[in-house]
Order: sequence, then structure tokens, then C-alpha cells
Amino acid sequence: MRILLIEDEAALARPLREHLEADRHIVEWFTTLDEAHSAIRTLEYDVVLLDLQLPDGDGLSFLSKIRDQHIRTPIIILTARDKISDRIDGLNRGADDYVIKPFDLDEVKARIHTVCRRSADQMTQTTVVRDLSICFTNHSVSRAGADIRLTAKEWSVLEVLLRRKSKIVPKESLEAAVYAYGDEVESNALEAHISRLRAKLGKDLIVTHRGIGYMLQA
Ligand code: CA
Repeated sequence: MRILLIEDEAALARPLREHLEADRHIVEWFTTLDEAHSAIRTLEYDVVLLDLQLPDGDGLSFLSKIRDQHIRTPIIILTARDKISDRIDGLNRGADDYVIKPFDLDEVKARIHTVCRRSADQMTQTTVVRDLSICFTNHSVSRAGADIRLTAKEWSVLEVLLRRKSKIVPKESLEAAVYAYGDEVESNALEAHISRLRAKLGKDLIVTHRGIGYMLQA
């Protein structure tokens, strides 16, 4: 999953990011609402973790703003225990859940999975494509009961292709899924991920449409 983390306290953000990355998520961390807003308008995220007090403003107004812009990404508020009214306000403004600081890293992970499962647009937790069984919660793929290991980036490519199964996905959309916001995109890196996915999952699963993009052929 691609996670947008908006938190100005490095002591909270760093361990959280490491914990989620160890779980093979891609985490983009911003310390201001302004940067986070440009990011969420440019790229698609699976979930946003939102602190309420940021140096350039209030997380609640950010929340209202993006909901007004019809951005429906699930949002989990990260908030201090003594701010009950903020939590209620956040839920009323369209947040999906909240976690109380100081938080337990596994609890945050569990909440992420819960809100994503809830919002999973027509996508069930597990899907079967040809001889592959694919689990979105665990980011795992198996064939005849045997696990196939994918790197975080390979999973991101596969996930985007699966969401638009049997449609051509432009190369740029896949690159956006693979690269963190602000990263420089290396030429041919996407092709390398695609070719490793073919080697692992079956060589005709992903079809190349030259000059346009790729399609997952179910
Ligand atoms: Ca803060």
C-alpha cells in the first residue's frame, strides 16, 4: 500500500515509517500540510495518517479541504488523548478512524488494514487470477499453496495493474505507484520490475502495449 504520513514530530514519524516499510508498504512522509496537499493531489494513496497540529495549520481543515475536493482516500487521525472533541470533529469531517498518541505501532498497522478493507472499492481481500491467489491485505501471492516472494515495488506495480485488470495502464501511472513523491524515476526501472514480475508470475500475464503502457491479462 502507499501511505501518506503527515506528522511533524520526527520521533513519532520515523519509527512508524520504518515499521510500515518493514511490512512492505511505501510510506511518504511530510511534515507540512502544504506539501502533503500537493502530494495527494498528484498521486493516489491507499491511506492517509494525519496529525492534527502541523506547523502550517490544522489537520482538521486539511481534512475538510480534501473531502471538499472529492478526494476519498481513507484517513486515520493521529491525535493526543486529551483532545476528544477533535476526534469527534475529525470523524464528522470525514475521517475514517483515529489512533491515540502515543500509539502502539502494531495498532496503527491494524487500523490501516481495517480502514482499507472497509473502503476497498469492490475489491475483495483475496482475488484469483489464473493460477495465482493474491491477497491484498498481506501483499502476498501464491501458486498452488506455495508463496511467491515479491519486493515492495513489484507488489506496487502488480496492485495497480490488478486494480485496472484487463485495461491498459499508462506507464506514467505505474511509475507514480513505484516511485515515492519527489524520487527521480530511473529509466527502464519499471521495465525491470515488469520483467521480474513476468518471471515470477507467468510470462504472458502482463502484456506490453508499446508506447502506451501495460495490461494485466486475467
Ligand atoms: Ca504535531
